[in-house]
Amino acid sequence: MNSDFEVAVIGGGIIGLTIAALLSERGIETLLVERTRCGYAGATAHTGGICRAFEPNPALARLAEIVGLRPGETDVEAILRRHETVTGALYRLPTDSPPPNGKVPLRRISTGEARELVGRPVADNGAYYHEASAAVSDVHSTMNGLRTALRQHGCLIERCDVQRLMERNTHVEIHSLDTRYRARHVINAAGAGSPTLSLIDGSQVRTIPYFKFRGPSTPTLPCIDFVAGTYALPLSDTLLQSTTAIRPSLEEIEGDRRHLRLMVEDCRQRLQGLLGDTEEYSLLSTDLATDLYTPDGLPRLGPQYPGSRIWLATGLNGVGYKYAYPIASRLYEQIARSR
Ligand SMILES: Cc1cc2nc3c(=O)[nH]c(=O)nc-3n(C[C@H](O)[C@H](O)[C@H](O)COP(=O)(O)OP(=O)(O)OC[C@H]3O[C@@H](n4cnc5c(N)ncnc54)[C@H](O)[C@@H]3O)c2cc1C
Repeated sequence: MNSDFEVAVIGGGIIGLTIAALLSERGIETLLVERTRCGYAGATAHTGGICRAFEPNPALARLAEIVGLRPGETDVEAILRRHETVTGALYRLPTDSPPPNGKVPLRRISTGEARELVGRPVADNGAYYHEASAAVSDVHSTMNGLRTALRQHGCLIERCDVQRLMERNTHVEIHSLDTRYRARHVINAAGAGSPTLSLIDGSQVRTIPYFKFRGPSTPTLPCIDFVAGTYALPLSDTLLQSTTAIRPSLEEIEGDRRHLRLMVEDCRQRLQGLLGDTEEYSLLSTDLATDLYTPDGLPRLGPQYPGSRIWLATGLNGVGYKYAYPIASRLYEQIARSR
């Protein structure tokens, strides 16, 4: 079977789905091919969905500024915002670190104020900042909203595993086991889930472990701790998500389950650095997700080499959720120019 599209997007995580929904809303004939169901695999299935402006990596922070389409200009942007709840976010930075870039809406607060905001004890050392406009997204509702929007304007094929992309002079062929599609451009947003498709020069799949704890009380807002190197994300009044800095590969963990114990211990220690006594928290679950990292920590957006019809939207470095709209908006501008 042959079907022709202007753009085919591979991978229905937050990046691929946002791109496909935006392109089709803007009149570009777009197909999205997803191996499972959009948002049910890959990093997006595990994401915390925190959308915050403060980003210590200046190059990544610039990405958010490169937005072609203004907020409120598209339905896709409205869907993304509709499912966000403004919670604010608390940051702890080393006392001697330079103050964050003045463009970011951060307010320096005292430890006492931080305690009041969080609703429980926090560590005495470090510089606390509050970003009042930070939000947490209801990821499944957002993905469902984007999926409905894509079905309205474009074409969505789920449960189809893309095996191979073949670049020709005028188009790209997309091969799955029993189907072949053709598109003038392909955007590869397969994330870390498909090494043969998505591995780019020097990039690597990195594990993003996260643990859920149950306790008598949790912080009232997400806390991102650059001193202890962890975060505390309240999922409910009694449920808390956090992480470790120990990140063995999936194979290493499979080979020796002791890694998991060390990771949980490391996570507890880091959490203790921020919230004090964590004995009261009992471990509920351990999960391992993955994301694709590039050596310079910056995403790859645009043609995989000059003039290529296969474009990359990958290497999101663990912050892809909040950058989905600027990335989609930027790729839309590039595709529109190349038409
Ligand atoms: C635990 C955790 C917490 C996070 N928290 C945050 C946060 O709070 N804020 C934030 O901004 N970011 C966060 N991130 C990062 C963010 O979630 C990811 O960067 C983002 O989800 C990546 O999206 P993606 O679409 O690029 O990839 P993915 O979500 O991995 O999607 C790729 C999709 O491609 C599909 N696919 C793969 N191969 C094929 C193939 N051959 N054919 C067809 N389909 C294929 C997969 O099934 C998958 O659905 C977090 C990540 C994790 C793991």
